[in-house]
Amino acid sequence: MAKAKEQARRQRIRRAVILLSLLLFPVTMNYLSPYVIIDGASQGIINGSFLVFVLLFLSSLFLGRLWCSWVCPAAGLQEICFAVNDKSARGGKLNWIKWGIWILWIAIIALVVISAGGYRAINLLHLTDSGISVDRPEAYFIYYTVVVVFLVLAWTAGRRAGCHYICWMAPFMIFGRKIRNVFKWPSLRLKADADKCIDCKRCTRNCPMSLDVNAMVRASAMENSECILCGNCVDGCPENVITYSFSAGR
Ligand code: SF4
Ligand code: SF4
Repeated sequence: MAKAKEQARRQRIRRAVILLSLLLFPVTMNYLSPYVIIDGASQGIINGSFLVFVLLFLSSLFLGRLWCSWVCPAAGLQEICFAVNDKSARGGKLNWIKWGIWILWIAIIALVVISAGGYRAINLLHLTDSGISVDRPEAYFIYYTVVVVFLVLAWTAGRRAGCHYICWMAPFMIFGRKIRNVFKWPSLRLKADADKCIDCKRCTRNCPMSLDVNAMVRASAMENSECILCGNCVDGCPENVITYSFSAGR
């Protein structure tokens, strides 16, 4: 009973953190921006979002996609939308859309920075002189465009559809996870004891990334590039089948 309360508390804290992050998005937007990094590259400047993307990649080597469930403002935005559309996102081949976007975007950054003669300076406040991203009327247009795109996807295509289909940050972390798996580095993962599973499928119903967690448990294959380590399956399982583990995995 005490454990169940503690688990429910963890999810309440997680939701509170991502809602706070959503509220702070007008401040943080440029530090997550796929555009500001291109503008910086065109002038040979390493900007704030460049640094954040590097840190996301490095963190994923040990923490997987924890950012996506515990920090990202788009997480708060999309989880609010569960009240409007709680259907599963289709995923599957559609998950590759974000890779198409990512590869094109990285290629543009590379071309732009090569044309500019390489990186020569660091300005983490590039295009963000006041430190606050939405500090002028034009910035509201960008802010609401990003918000509306994620909202429309969540309302029409299902739970956290933006994470599946368009997120430009997810590939950095999926890439980091693959590297970690190849080298078998210890990291935060899910672990399951399939023998204890009673197939109630609560984990599958609760998964915000629409993964068939019950099937993952049955196959003893808890590694999934779309898993964001939110812990809903850990905290909602009546038999405590799934746990967090900091290990090298299988
Ligand atoms: S919630 Fe737990 S017991 Fe139920 S299907 Fe998932 S792993 Fe099995
Ligand atoms: S598998 Fe579990 S930890 Fe991973 S996204 Fe789904 S509910 Fe969250």
